[in-house]
Amino acid sequence: MSPVAANLEYIKARIEAARQAAVAPAPATHLIAVSKTHSAEVVREALDAGHRLFGENKVQEALAKWPALKAEYPDAELHMIGGLQTNKAKEAVGLFDAIHSVDRIKLARAIASERDKQGKNPKLFVQVNIGEEPQKSGVAPRETLALVEEVRALQLDLVGLMCVPPFDLAPAPYFGLLKKLAGEAALPLLSMGMSDDFEIAIKFGATHVRVGTAIFGARDYSKP
Ligand SMILES: *Cc1c(COP(=O)(O)O)cnc(C)c1O
Repeated sequence: MSPVAANLEYIKARIEAARQAAVAPAPATHLIAVSKTHSAEVVREALDAGHRLFGENKVQEALAKWPALKAEYPDAELHMIGGLQTNKAKEAVGLFDAIHSVDRIKLARAIASERDKQGKNPKLFVQVNIGEEPQKSGVAPRETLALVEEVRALQLDLVGLMCVPPFDLAPAPYFGLLKKLAGEAALPLLSMGMSDDFEIAIKFGATHVRVGTAIFGARDYSKP
C-alpha cells in the first residue's frame, strides 16, 4: 500500500471514530483530500486508492494538474477551497465542482454570469471570516446572512458555509459559531476542520473536512 493510501485509511478511520463519539454528527462527513502543492503523481496514489474528492486552493495550479487527472478518473470531484479573484471565475466554474470561498457579492455575480455562459452550476459555500481576522478572507459573521440572501437571489446552488478558524486559538467556539450561522441561514452543509482539528469540527457537525498534510505530508513551498 502506498503511504498516501495508508494515510487515507487512517484518516477515514479517525473520521468514523469521531462521528461515533459525537453527540450530533452531520448525517455524513465527506473527506476532501487537499492536494495543493503536491504533484499529479502523488494525487494519483490517492485516486488509485479509490479516493475521489479533492481540494485545491489555486486556479492556475489546479488547471495544470487536474484536466488530465479528470480525464483519467471522470468521477473525481474537485473543490476550490482558496480565495478566488473575480477575474478567475470563468476558469473556476469550468474546472471545479464546488467553490468554498464565496465571500462577496461581486464574486457571486461573476460565478452566476459564468453559469449562464457555460451551463455549469457549481455548489457554493459562503466563506465566513469566523475569527474576524484582518488578514483572512471571508465575510464577517454579522454580514453572513445578508450575503447568503444576495447569493440566493442569483439562483446559485448555495449549499453551506465554510471557515478557517484562527490557527493559534482553540477552534471549538468558532466551529460552534459557524454551525449556528448555518442554522440561521438554513444551509445544510458545513466545510470546516483541517489536519489538526477535523475531529473537533466533526463534533460540531462538519459535513466536509479539508485535510491535506495528514494525507499527503508536509508541503514544500520552495519547489517551483
Ligand atoms: C491547505 C488548506 C487546508 C488543508 O490544511 P492541512 O492543515 O494541510 O490539512 C484546508 N483548508 C484550506 C482552506 C486550506 O487552504
